[in-house]
Amino acid sequence: MADMFKRVPVREQDAKVRATNFEEVCYGYNKEEAMEEAARCLNCKNAKCIQGCPVSINIPGFISKVKDGDIEGAYKVIGESSALPAICGRVCPQESQCECKCVRGIKGDPVSIGKLERFVADYALENDIKPQKAEKMNGHKVAVIGSGPSGLTCAGDLAKLGYEVTVFEALHELGGVLVYGIPEFRLPKEKVVKKEIEKVKELGVKFETNVVIGKSTTIDQLMEEENFEAVFIGSGAGLPMFMGIPGETANGVFSANEYLTRSNLMKAFDDSYDTPIAAGKKVAVVGGGNVAMDAARTALRLGAEVHVIYRRSEAELPARVEEVHHAKEEGVIFNLLTNPKEILVDENGWVKGMKVIKMELGEPDASGRRRPIEIPGSEYEIEVDTVIMSLGTSPNPLIASTTEGLETNRRKCIVAEEENGQTSKACVFAGGDAVTGAATVILAMGAGKAGAKGIHELLSQK
Ligand SMILES: Cc1cc2nc3c(=O)[nH]c(=O)nc-3n(C[C@H](O)[C@H](O)[C@H](O)COP(=O)(O)OP(=O)(O)OC[C@H]3O[C@@H](n4cnc5c(N)ncnc54)[C@H](O)[C@@H]3O)c2cc1C
Repeated sequence: MADMFKRVPVREQDAKVRATNFEEVCYGYNKEEAMEEAARCLNCKNAKCIQGCPVSINIPGFISKVKDGDIEGAYKVIGESSALPAICGRVCPQESQCECKCVRGIKGDPVSIGKLERFVADYALENDIKPQKAEKMNGHKVAVIGSGPSGLTCAGDLAKLGYEVTVFEALHELGGVLVYGIPEFRLPKEKVVKKEIEKVKELGVKFETNVVIGKSTTIDQLMEEENFEAVFIGSGAGLPMFMGIPGETANGVFSANEYLTRSNLMKAFDDSYDTPIAAGKKVAVVGGGNVAMDAARTALRLGAEVHVIYRRSEAELPARVEEVHHAKEEGVIFNLLTNPKEILVDENGWVKGMKVIKMELGEPDASGRRRPIEIPGSEYEIEVDTVIMSLGTSPNPLIASTTEGLETNRRKCIVAEEENGQTSKACVFAGGDAVTGAATVILAMGAGKAGAKGIHELLSQK
Protein backbone atom coordinates (compact mmCIF):
# COMPACT_ATOMS: atom_id res chain seq x y z
CA MET A 1 0.00 0.00 0.00
CA ALA A 2 1.44 3.37 -1.04
CA ASP A 3 2.24 5.93 1.67
CA MET A 4 -0.37 8.66 1.09
CA PHE A 5 1.74 11.21 3.00
CA LYS A 6 4.69 10.92 0.63
CA ARG A 7 4.76 11.85 -3.05
CA VAL A 8 5.74 9.26 -5.62
CA PRO A 9 9.43 9.99 -6.24
CA VAL A 10 10.40 11.15 -9.71
CA ARG A 11 13.27 9.54 -11.57
CA GLU A 12 16.29 11.75 -12.39
CA GLN A 13 19.55 11.42 -14.23
CA ASP A 14 22.43 10.62 -11.83
CA ALA A 15 24.09 13.87 -10.62
CA LYS A 16 27.65 12.84 -11.55
CA VAL A 17 26.65 11.73 -15.04
CA ARG A 18 24.41 14.71 -15.82
CA ALA A 19 27.07 17.23 -14.72
CA THR A 20 28.87 16.25 -17.94
CA ASN A 21 25.98 16.35 -20.41
CA PHE A 22 23.12 18.61 -21.55
CA GLU A 23 20.39 15.97 -21.44
CA GLU A 24 17.29 16.55 -19.33
CA VAL A 25 17.87 16.13 -15.59
CA CYS A 26 14.37 14.94 -14.65
CA TYR A 27 12.74 11.96 -16.42
CA GLY A 28 9.20 12.64 -15.16
CA TYR A 29 6.53 10.09 -14.25
CA ASN A 30 5.38 7.13 -16.33
CA LYS A 31 1.64 6.33 -16.45
CA GLU A 32 1.64 3.99 -13.43
CA GLU A 33 3.57 6.48 -11.30
CA ALA A 34 1.32 9.34 -12.42
CA MET A 35 -1.86 7.39 -11.59
CA GLU A 36 -0.45 6.47 -8.17
CA GLU A 37 0.47 10.10 -7.43
CA ALA A 38 -2.92 11.32 -8.74
CA ALA A 39 -4.65 9.01 -6.25
CA ARG A 40 -3.19 11.18 -3.44
CA CYS A 41 -5.30 14.19 -4.54
CA LEU A 42 -8.20 14.77 -2.14
CA ASN A 43 -10.27 16.49 -4.87
CA CYS A 44 -11.10 19.36 -2.48
CA LYS A 45 -14.39 21.18 -3.18
CA ASN A 46 -12.82 24.55 -2.41
CA ALA A 47 -9.59 23.78 -4.26
CA LYS A 48 -6.94 26.20 -2.95
CA CYS A 49 -4.45 24.91 -5.53
CA ILE A 50 -6.51 26.57 -8.32
CA GLN A 51 -6.24 29.91 -6.52
CA GLY A 52 -2.45 29.41 -6.42
CA CYS A 53 -2.25 28.99 -10.21
CA PRO A 54 -1.91 32.29 -12.12
CA VAL A 55 -3.85 30.80 -15.07
CA SER A 56 -6.42 28.99 -12.85
CA ILE A 57 -6.01 25.47 -14.24
CA ASN A 58 -8.75 23.14 -12.91
CA ILE A 59 -6.14 21.11 -11.04
CA PRO A 60 -8.36 18.60 -9.19
CA GLY A 61 -10.32 18.22 -12.46
CA PHE A 62 -7.31 17.13 -14.50
CA ILE A 63 -5.82 15.07 -11.68
CA SER A 64 -9.01 13.05 -11.24
CA LYS A 65 -8.86 12.17 -14.96
CA VAL A 66 -5.24 11.02 -14.52
CA LYS A 67 -6.35 8.90 -11.56
CA ASP A 68 -8.87 7.19 -13.86
CA GLY A 69 -6.24 6.70 -16.57
CA ASP A 70 -8.00 9.16 -18.95
CA ILE A 71 -4.92 11.16 -19.95
CA GLU A 72 -6.47 12.67 -23.08
CA GLY A 73 -9.35 13.92 -20.92
CA ALA A 74 -6.84 15.38 -18.45
CA TYR A 75 -5.09 17.22 -21.33
CA LYS A 76 -8.41 18.74 -22.44
CA VAL A 77 -9.04 20.05 -18.91
CA ILE A 78 -5.56 21.66 -18.77
CA GLY A 79 -5.97 22.99 -22.32
CA GLU A 80 -8.97 25.09 -21.24
CA SER A 81 -6.55 27.30 -19.28
CA SER A 82 -3.01 26.72 -20.54
CA ALA A 83 -1.42 26.48 -23.97
CA LEU A 84 2.02 25.47 -22.69
CA PRO A 85 1.62 22.73 -20.05
CA ALA A 86 4.73 20.68 -20.93
CA ILE A 87 6.78 23.85 -20.39
CA CYS A 88 5.00 24.91 -17.18
CA GLY A 89 5.16 21.37 -15.79
CA ARG A 90 8.94 21.72 -16.02
CA VAL A 91 9.75 25.29 -15.07
CA CYS A 92 6.89 26.76 -12.99
CA PRO A 93 7.71 27.45 -9.33
CA GLN A 94 4.90 25.12 -8.18
CA GLU A 95 6.31 25.00 -4.64
CA SER A 96 5.34 28.64 -4.14
CA GLN A 97 2.12 28.54 -6.20
CA CYS A 98 -0.31 25.61 -6.57
CA GLU A 99 1.58 23.03 -4.49
CA CYS A 100 2.06 25.28 -1.46
CA LYS A 101 -1.74 25.55 -1.19
CA CYS A 102 -2.31 21.77 -1.36
CA VAL A 103 -4.09 20.41 1.74
CA ARG A 104 -1.95 17.25 1.57
CA GLY A 105 1.02 19.50 2.37
CA ILE A 106 -0.26 20.16 5.91
CA LYS A 107 0.68 16.68 7.15
CA GLY A 108 2.95 15.37 4.42
CA ASP A 109 4.12 16.10 0.88
CA PRO A 110 1.79 18.18 -1.30
CA VAL A 111 0.53 16.42 -4.44
CA SER A 112 3.16 16.64 -7.17
CA ILE A 113 0.98 18.86 -9.38
CA GLY A 114 3.81 20.05 -11.63
CA LYS A 115 5.07 16.55 -12.40
CA LEU A 116 1.50 15.38 -13.14
CA GLU A 117 0.94 18.34 -15.48
CA ARG A 118 4.21 17.50 -17.22
CA PHE A 119 3.21 13.84 -17.60
CA VAL A 120 -0.17 14.73 -19.16
CA ALA A 121 1.36 17.30 -21.51
CA ASP A 122 4.18 14.98 -22.63
CA TYR A 123 1.61 12.27 -23.31
CA ALA A 124 -0.35 14.73 -25.50
CA LEU A 125 2.83 15.71 -27.40
CA GLU A 126 3.91 12.09 -27.89
CA ASN A 127 0.43 11.07 -29.06
CA ASP A 128 -0.16 14.24 -31.09
CA ILE A 129 -3.47 15.11 -29.41
CA LYS A 130 -4.83 18.17 -31.22
CA PRO A 131 -5.89 21.36 -29.43
CA GLN A 132 -9.45 22.65 -29.82
CA LYS A 133 -9.60 25.08 -32.81
CA ALA A 134 -12.05 27.96 -33.36
CA GLU A 135 -15.11 26.87 -35.34
CA LYS A 136 -15.11 30.02 -37.49
CA MET A 137 -13.00 33.17 -37.88
CA ASN A 138 -14.46 36.46 -36.63
CA GLY A 139 -12.77 38.74 -39.20
CA HIS A 140 -10.62 40.70 -36.73
CA LYS A 141 -6.86 41.01 -37.12
CA VAL A 142 -4.46 41.21 -34.15
CA ALA A 143 -0.66 41.56 -33.96
CA VAL A 144 1.39 40.07 -31.12
CA ILE A 145 4.97 41.22 -30.51
CA GLY A 146 7.26 38.55 -29.12
CA SER A 147 6.94 34.76 -29.09
CA GLY A 148 7.73 34.17 -25.41
CA PRO A 149 5.13 32.67 -23.05
CA SER A 150 3.07 35.88 -22.82
CA GLY A 151 2.87 36.34 -26.61
CA LEU A 152 2.22 32.65 -27.29
CA THR A 153 -0.57 32.53 -24.71
CA CYS A 154 -2.22 35.72 -25.91
CA ALA A 155 -1.99 34.53 -29.53
CA GLY A 156 -3.34 31.05 -28.72
CA ASP A 157 -6.28 32.37 -26.69
CA LEU A 158 -7.26 34.85 -29.43
CA ALA A 159 -6.95 32.22 -32.17
CA LYS A 160 -9.29 29.94 -30.22
CA LEU A 161 -11.82 32.81 -30.29
CA GLY A 162 -11.53 33.11 -34.08
CA TYR A 163 -9.08 36.04 -34.44
CA GLU A 164 -6.54 36.19 -37.25
CA VAL A 165 -3.32 36.50 -35.23
CA THR A 166 0.23 37.19 -36.42
CA VAL A 167 3.16 36.98 -34.00
CA PHE A 168 6.20 39.11 -34.87
CA GLU A 169 9.46 37.81 -33.37
CA ALA A 170 12.82 39.61 -33.46
CA LEU A 171 14.94 36.43 -33.35
CA HIS A 172 15.17 33.62 -35.89
CA GLU A 173 13.73 31.11 -33.39
CA LEU A 174 10.38 31.17 -31.60
CA GLY A 175 9.94 30.83 -27.84
CA GLY A 176 11.68 33.80 -26.17
CA VAL A 177 13.49 32.91 -22.96
CA LEU A 178 12.17 29.36 -23.31
CA VAL A 179 14.65 28.85 -26.15
CA TYR A 180 17.48 31.28 -25.55
CA GLY A 181 17.50 31.44 -21.71
CA ILE A 182 16.44 28.22 -20.01
CA PRO A 183 18.97 25.47 -20.80
CA GLU A 184 18.30 22.22 -22.62
CA PHE A 185 18.91 20.12 -19.49
CA ARG A 186 15.86 21.76 -17.83
CA LEU A 187 13.68 22.35 -20.85
CA PRO A 188 14.37 20.34 -24.01
CA LYS A 189 13.87 22.47 -27.13
CA GLU A 190 13.04 19.93 -29.87
CA LYS A 191 11.08 17.51 -27.70
CA VAL A 192 9.09 20.09 -25.74
CA VAL A 193 9.29 23.79 -26.69
CA LYS A 194 9.09 23.39 -30.47
CA LYS A 195 6.31 20.81 -30.23
CA GLU A 196 4.26 22.97 -27.86
CA ILE A 197 4.69 25.96 -30.23
CA GLU A 198 3.49 23.66 -33.05
CA LYS A 199 0.24 23.26 -31.10
CA VAL A 200 -0.18 27.08 -31.08
CA LYS A 201 0.42 27.03 -34.86
CA GLU A 202 -2.24 24.34 -35.21
CA LEU A 203 -4.71 26.82 -33.71
CA GLY A 204 -4.08 28.96 -36.81
CA VAL A 205 -1.60 31.52 -35.41
CA LYS A 206 0.87 32.85 -38.01
CA PHE A 207 4.50 33.62 -37.08
CA GLU A 208 6.98 36.03 -38.68
CA THR A 209 10.55 35.73 -37.41
CA ASN A 210 13.44 38.20 -37.83
CA VAL A 211 11.08 41.17 -37.45
CA VAL A 212 12.26 43.71 -34.87
CA ILE A 213 9.34 45.97 -34.01
CA GLY A 214 10.77 49.46 -33.64
CA LYS A 215 13.31 48.80 -36.43
CA SER A 216 11.79 46.65 -39.23
CA THR A 217 8.41 48.33 -38.68
CA THR A 218 6.59 50.09 -35.84
CA ILE A 219 3.41 49.51 -33.90
CA ASP A 220 1.87 52.61 -35.49
CA GLN A 221 2.67 51.23 -38.96
CA LEU A 222 1.19 47.84 -38.10
CA MET A 223 -2.04 49.55 -37.14
CA GLU A 224 -2.20 52.25 -39.79
CA GLU A 225 -0.71 50.47 -42.82
CA GLU A 226 -1.32 46.77 -42.16
CA ASN A 227 -4.80 47.07 -40.61
CA PHE A 228 -4.10 45.34 -37.33
CA GLU A 229 -6.93 46.44 -35.06
CA ALA A 230 -5.12 45.69 -31.80
CA VAL A 231 -1.57 44.90 -30.71
CA PHE A 232 -0.31 42.88 -27.73
CA ILE A 233 3.28 43.63 -26.63
CA GLY A 234 5.00 40.63 -25.04
CA SER A 235 8.57 41.67 -25.72
CA GLY A 236 10.06 40.56 -22.39
CA ALA A 237 12.90 42.07 -20.38
CA GLY A 238 16.07 41.11 -22.17
CA LEU A 239 18.42 43.99 -21.28
CA PRO A 240 21.05 42.80 -18.78
CA MET A 241 22.20 44.84 -15.77
CA PHE A 242 25.80 45.18 -14.64
CA MET A 243 27.40 46.22 -11.33
CA GLY A 244 29.48 49.13 -12.56
CA ILE A 245 32.66 47.80 -10.87
CA PRO A 246 36.19 48.15 -12.36
CA GLY A 247 37.11 45.48 -14.92
CA GLU A 248 33.55 44.70 -16.03
CA THR A 249 34.34 45.40 -19.70
CA ALA A 250 37.26 42.90 -19.80
CA ASN A 251 37.33 39.92 -22.15
CA GLY A 252 35.79 36.94 -20.40
CA VAL A 253 33.02 38.92 -18.68
CA PHE A 254 29.54 37.96 -19.92
CA SER A 255 26.00 38.82 -19.00
CA ALA A 256 24.14 35.60 -18.14
CA ASN A 257 21.82 36.37 -21.07
CA GLU A 258 24.67 36.42 -23.57
CA TYR A 259 26.33 33.34 -22.10
CA LEU A 260 23.10 31.34 -22.12
CA THR A 261 22.08 32.58 -25.58
CA ARG A 262 25.42 31.42 -26.96
CA SER A 263 24.96 28.03 -25.36
CA ASN A 264 21.22 27.45 -25.91
CA LEU A 265 20.31 29.23 -29.11
CA MET A 266 23.70 29.20 -30.84
CA LYS A 267 24.54 25.68 -29.52
CA ALA A 268 28.04 26.63 -28.31
CA PHE A 269 28.13 23.40 -26.28
CA ASP A 270 27.97 21.38 -29.50
CA ASP A 271 31.35 21.10 -31.27
CA SER A 272 29.64 20.89 -34.67
CA TYR A 273 28.51 24.55 -34.25
CA ASP A 274 30.87 27.45 -34.77
CA THR A 275 29.80 29.51 -31.73
CA PRO A 276 32.60 30.69 -29.45
CA ILE A 277 32.01 30.68 -25.70
CA ALA A 278 34.54 31.26 -22.95
CA ALA A 279 34.58 27.72 -21.61
CA GLY A 280 36.61 28.88 -18.63
CA LYS A 281 38.48 26.57 -16.30
CA LYS A 282 37.29 28.56 -13.31
CA VAL A 283 34.09 30.56 -13.60
CA ALA A 284 32.45 33.02 -11.19
CA VAL A 285 28.70 33.53 -11.57
CA VAL A 286 27.52 36.65 -9.75
CA GLY A 287 23.90 36.46 -8.49
CA GLY A 288 21.57 33.93 -6.89
CA GLY A 289 18.44 33.70 -9.07
CA ASN A 290 17.23 31.03 -11.49
CA VAL A 291 19.24 32.65 -14.24
CA ALA A 292 22.43 32.44 -12.16
CA MET A 293 21.75 28.73 -11.46
CA ASP A 294 21.25 28.08 -15.18
CA ALA A 295 24.48 29.90 -16.09
CA ALA A 296 26.42 28.08 -13.35
CA ARG A 297 25.13 24.65 -14.34
CA THR A 298 25.84 25.39 -18.01
CA ALA A 299 29.44 26.45 -17.26
CA LEU A 300 29.85 23.29 -15.18
CA ARG A 301 28.72 21.16 -18.10
CA LEU A 302 31.22 22.99 -20.30
CA GLY A 303 33.93 21.62 -17.98
CA ALA A 304 34.58 24.47 -15.53
CA GLU A 305 34.92 24.70 -11.76
CA VAL A 306 32.05 27.04 -10.94
CA HIS A 307 31.66 29.47 -8.03
CA VAL A 308 28.36 31.26 -7.39
CA ILE A 309 29.06 34.60 -5.70
CA TYR A 310 25.99 35.82 -3.79
CA ARG A 311 25.86 38.70 -1.33
CA ARG A 312 23.18 37.35 1.00
CA SER A 313 22.87 33.95 2.73
CA GLU A 314 21.35 30.69 1.48
CA ALA A 315 17.94 31.53 2.98
CA GLU A 316 17.65 34.58 0.70
CA LEU A 317 18.72 32.85 -2.55
CA PRO A 318 15.95 33.84 -5.00
CA ALA A 319 16.37 30.73 -7.21
CA ARG A 320 13.95 27.81 -6.92
CA VAL A 321 14.92 25.38 -4.16
CA GLU A 322 15.06 22.55 -6.72
CA GLU A 323 17.55 24.47 -8.88
CA VAL A 324 19.86 25.20 -5.94
CA HIS A 325 19.63 21.57 -4.85
CA HIS A 326 20.47 20.32 -8.35
CA ALA A 327 23.34 22.81 -8.70
CA LYS A 328 24.87 21.66 -5.41
CA GLU A 329 24.44 17.98 -6.27
CA GLU A 330 26.26 18.58 -9.54
CA GLY A 331 29.21 20.30 -7.85
CA VAL A 332 28.60 24.07 -8.11
CA ILE A 333 30.39 25.81 -5.21
CA PHE A 334 28.43 28.52 -3.36
CA ASN A 335 30.35 31.52 -2.02
CA LEU A 336 27.59 33.08 0.08
CA LEU A 337 27.69 36.45 1.91
CA THR A 338 30.32 37.51 -0.61
CA ASN A 339 30.22 40.41 -3.08
CA PRO A 340 32.52 41.39 -6.00
CA LYS A 341 34.50 44.63 -5.65
CA GLU A 342 36.63 44.47 -8.79
CA ILE A 343 37.35 42.19 -11.73
CA LEU A 344 41.10 41.74 -12.09
CA VAL A 345 42.39 41.93 -15.66
CA ASP A 346 45.70 40.74 -17.16
CA GLU A 347 47.95 42.74 -19.51
CA ASN A 348 46.04 41.42 -22.56
CA GLY A 349 42.66 42.57 -21.30
CA TRP A 350 41.41 39.13 -20.13
CA VAL A 351 39.91 38.31 -16.75
CA LYS A 352 42.45 36.82 -14.33
CA GLY A 353 40.57 37.03 -11.05
CA MET A 354 38.10 38.83 -8.85
CA LYS A 355 38.47 40.88 -5.69
CA VAL A 356 35.55 40.10 -3.37
CA ILE A 357 34.47 41.21 0.10
CA LYS A 358 32.69 39.31 2.86
CA MET A 359 29.22 40.53 3.84
CA GLU A 360 26.92 40.24 6.85
CA LEU A 361 23.17 40.72 7.06
CA GLY A 362 21.67 43.82 8.68
CA GLU A 363 18.09 45.02 9.04
CA PRO A 364 15.48 44.20 6.32
CA ASP A 365 15.49 46.59 3.33
CA ALA A 366 12.62 47.73 1.06
CA SER A 367 12.42 44.22 -0.48
CA GLY A 368 11.80 42.76 2.99
CA ARG A 369 15.07 40.81 2.86
CA ARG A 370 17.90 41.53 5.30
CA ARG A 371 20.28 44.09 3.84
CA PRO A 372 23.80 42.82 3.06
CA ILE A 373 26.55 44.99 4.62
CA GLU A 374 30.25 44.85 3.80
CA ILE A 375 32.59 43.68 6.57
CA PRO A 376 35.44 46.25 6.48
CA GLY A 377 38.88 44.81 5.79
CA SER A 378 37.55 41.40 4.66
CA GLU A 379 38.51 41.73 0.97
CA TYR A 380 40.31 38.84 -0.70
CA GLU A 381 41.07 37.70 -4.24
CA ILE A 382 39.89 34.62 -6.07
CA GLU A 383 41.40 33.29 -9.27
CA VAL A 384 38.87 33.01 -12.13
CA ASP A 385 39.13 33.34 -15.91
CA THR A 386 35.45 33.92 -16.73
CA VAL A 387 32.83 36.03 -14.96
CA ILE A 388 29.10 35.73 -15.67
CA MET A 389 26.99 38.60 -14.37
CA SER A 390 23.48 37.53 -13.46
CA LEU A 391 22.05 40.56 -11.71
CA GLY A 392 18.66 40.86 -13.39
CA THR A 393 17.33 42.39 -16.59
CA SER A 394 15.06 45.23 -17.67
CA PRO A 395 12.91 45.73 -20.80
CA ASN A 396 14.61 47.01 -23.93
CA PRO A 397 13.39 50.62 -24.48
CA LEU A 398 13.17 50.20 -28.30
CA ILE A 399 9.43 49.59 -28.57
CA ALA A 400 8.44 52.33 -26.13
CA SER A 401 10.75 54.85 -27.79
CA THR A 402 9.24 54.20 -31.24
CA THR A 403 5.55 54.10 -30.24
CA GLU A 404 3.69 57.39 -29.91
CA GLY A 405 1.87 57.70 -26.56
CA LEU A 406 3.09 54.47 -24.90
CA GLU A 407 3.79 55.15 -21.24
CA THR A 408 6.62 53.45 -19.33
CA ASN A 409 7.68 53.70 -15.69
CA ARG A 410 11.09 54.57 -14.22
CA ARG A 411 12.19 50.91 -14.55
CA LYS A 412 11.50 51.19 -18.33
CA CYS A 413 8.57 48.76 -17.98
CA ILE A 414 5.45 49.40 -20.07
CA VAL A 415 2.56 50.59 -17.90
CA ALA A 416 -0.49 48.32 -18.39
CA GLU A 417 -3.66 47.39 -16.47
CA GLU A 418 -3.30 44.10 -14.62
CA GLU A 419 -6.78 42.75 -15.42
CA ASN A 420 -6.75 43.34 -19.21
CA GLY A 421 -3.28 44.52 -20.27
CA GLN A 422 -4.56 47.89 -21.59
CA THR A 423 -1.69 50.40 -21.99
CA SER A 424 -1.85 54.20 -22.21
CA LYS A 425 -2.30 53.87 -26.00
CA ALA A 426 -5.67 52.95 -27.50
CA CYS A 427 -5.89 49.38 -28.87
CA VAL A 428 -2.39 48.53 -27.57
CA PHE A 429 -2.10 45.96 -24.79
CA ALA A 430 0.96 44.54 -23.00
CA GLY A 431 1.96 41.87 -20.51
CA GLY A 432 4.69 39.59 -19.21
CA ASP A 433 8.22 40.70 -18.34
CA ALA A 434 7.85 43.83 -20.54
CA VAL A 435 5.35 45.08 -17.94
CA THR A 436 6.48 43.47 -14.68
CA GLY A 437 10.23 43.26 -15.27
CA ALA A 438 11.86 39.80 -15.09
CA ALA A 439 9.34 37.41 -13.49
CA THR A 440 8.12 33.89 -14.31
CA VAL A 441 6.74 31.88 -17.23
CA ILE A 442 3.36 31.35 -15.62
CA LEU A 443 2.94 35.01 -14.67
CA ALA A 444 3.77 35.94 -18.28
CA MET A 445 1.18 33.43 -19.45
CA GLY A 446 -1.38 34.87 -17.02
CA ALA A 447 -0.68 38.33 -18.47
CA GLY A 448 -1.03 36.96 -22.02
CA LYS A 449 -4.44 35.58 -21.08
CA ALA A 450 -5.48 38.90 -19.53
CA GLY A 451 -4.32 40.69 -22.70
CA ALA A 452 -6.35 38.34 -24.90
CA LYS A 453 -9.39 38.98 -22.72
CA GLY A 454 -8.87 42.76 -22.98
CA ILE A 455 -8.50 42.60 -26.76
CA HIS A 456 -11.59 40.41 -27.10
CA GLU A 457 -13.63 42.80 -24.94
CA LEU A 458 -12.53 45.66 -27.20
CA LEU A 459 -12.90 44.06 -30.63
CA SER A 460 -16.04 42.02 -30.00
CA GLN A 461 -17.87 45.36 -29.53
CA LYS A 462 -16.92 46.45 -33.06
C1 LIG B 1 17.92 31.88 -17.86
C2 LIG B 1 16.51 32.06 -17.40
C3 LIG B 1 15.92 31.06 -16.63
C4 LIG B 1 14.61 31.20 -16.20
N1 LIG B 1 14.04 30.19 -15.49
C5 LIG B 1 12.74 30.25 -15.15
C6 LIG B 1 12.09 29.17 -14.48
O1 LIG B 1 12.70 28.16 -14.16
N2 LIG B 1 10.77 29.28 -14.21
C7 LIG B 1 10.06 30.39 -14.57
O2 LIG B 1 8.85 30.41 -14.35
N3 LIG B 1 10.64 31.44 -15.17
C8 LIG B 1 11.97 31.40 -15.46
N4 LIG B 1 12.56 32.46 -16.09
C9 LIG B 1 11.76 33.67 -16.38
C10 LIG B 1 10.84 33.46 -17.56
O3 LIG B 1 11.48 32.75 -18.59
C11 LIG B 1 10.32 34.80 -18.06
O4 LIG B 1 9.67 35.45 -16.99
C12 LIG B 1 9.33 34.62 -19.23
O5 LIG B 1 9.95 33.98 -20.32
C13 LIG B 1 8.79 35.98 -19.69
O6 LIG B 1 7.97 35.78 -20.80
P1 LIG B 1 7.66 36.96 -21.83
O7 LIG B 1 6.75 36.37 -22.83
O8 LIG B 1 7.20 38.15 -21.08
O9 LIG B 1 9.07 37.35 -22.45
P2 LIG B 1 10.25 36.54 -23.18
O10 LIG B 1 10.23 35.09 -22.86
O11 LIG B 1 11.47 37.31 -22.86
O12 LIG B 1 9.90 36.70 -24.71
C14 LIG B 1 9.94 37.95 -25.34
C15 LIG B 1 10.13 37.76 -26.82
O13 LIG B 1 9.97 39.02 -27.47
C16 LIG B 1 10.96 39.16 -28.47
N5 LIG B 1 11.16 40.58 -28.71
C17 LIG B 1 11.74 41.50 -27.90
N6 LIG B 1 11.76 42.70 -28.47
C18 LIG B 1 11.15 42.56 -29.68
C19 LIG B 1 10.89 43.46 -30.75
N7 LIG B 1 11.24 44.74 -30.68
N8 LIG B 1 10.28 42.98 -31.85
C20 LIG B 1 9.92 41.66 -31.95
N9 LIG B 1 10.16 40.78 -30.96
C21 LIG B 1 10.77 41.21 -29.84
C22 LIG B 1 12.17 38.48 -27.87
O14 LIG B 1 13.12 38.11 -28.86
C23 LIG B 1 11.53 37.27 -27.20
O15 LIG B 1 11.43 36.18 -28.06
C24 LIG B 1 13.89 32.37 -16.52
C25 LIG B 1 14.49 33.40 -17.26
C26 LIG B 1 15.78 33.25 -17.71
C27 LIG B 1 16.44 34.36 -18.51
